[in-house]
Amino acid sequence: MFMDLHMHSSYSDGRNTPEEMIEAAAGIGYEAVAITDHVWRTSDWVPAYAAHLEALKERCRPRIRLYSGIEAKVTSLDGDIDADPSFDALVDLILGSIHRIPKTGGYWSKSDREKAKKSEIIGDWLQAFYGLLQNPRVDIIAHPLSELNGFGVRETDLPMAEITDRIAASGKILELNVRYNTPDQQVIRISADKGAVFLISSDSHAVPDLIANSRLVREYMDKEHFRIVDIDRYLSFRTSSSP
Ligand SMILES: [Zn+2]
Ligand SMILES: [Zn+2]
Repeated sequence: MFMDLHMHSSYSDGRNTPEEMIEAAAGIGYEAVAITDHVWRTSDWVPAYAAHLEALKERCRPRIRLYSGIEAKVTSLDGDIDADPSFDALVDLILGSIHRIPKTGGYWSKSDREKAKKSEIIGDWLQAFYGLLQNPRVDIIAHPLSELNGFGVRETDLPMAEITDRIAASGKILELNVRYNTPDQQVIRISADKGAVFLISSDSHAVPDLIANSRLVREYMDKEHFRIVDIDRYLSFRTSSSP
């Protein structure tokens, strides 16, 4: 299915309304789209947002399938996410992402980079990333490994065999994010060989991004040989297996 399941609207930091993003996605020829705005634990607008997307589903159905989602940031080394648990049942998809690398009592900042050993930052990143992979609330790992770039960490610095084992064993959907061009080819190939399931997403924040990025989404779909998630099957399985 030609789809893009990661984008933002004016509910968070996107420049367009959900209607405008969905309309543009339908115009591009996408068969399915998800609006996945950034949330925080305190985002009291989430119930109204979710209800709005539910109402739009009906209106869009003849042209494009709509899924509702949120993107929540990791807040601790355990892989906890910055979203109130009451949000979970309101949306179809929860994207978990690391925007800042947690450390004991806070986050690593770029200025720490000079002071800290790279191995300490990598150690904390690994712990948070593995925590995220284990977090049962999360469906999709958004832009995996993107946060390491700012700390000068290369794939050769990482235990790639262990990381890809954990990704494959987690059962999470791994996002190939065309905006950040992440994860790198090695992670994709090794994880795919180990059975990981992928999604290609644009993380667009405006209609022009969505249009420009759709070419990259299409290119990856044509070029790569990994397994792309069957999202309806995934959602029906998740619904039937939850209590
Ligand atoms: Zn993000
Ligand atoms: Zn995003």
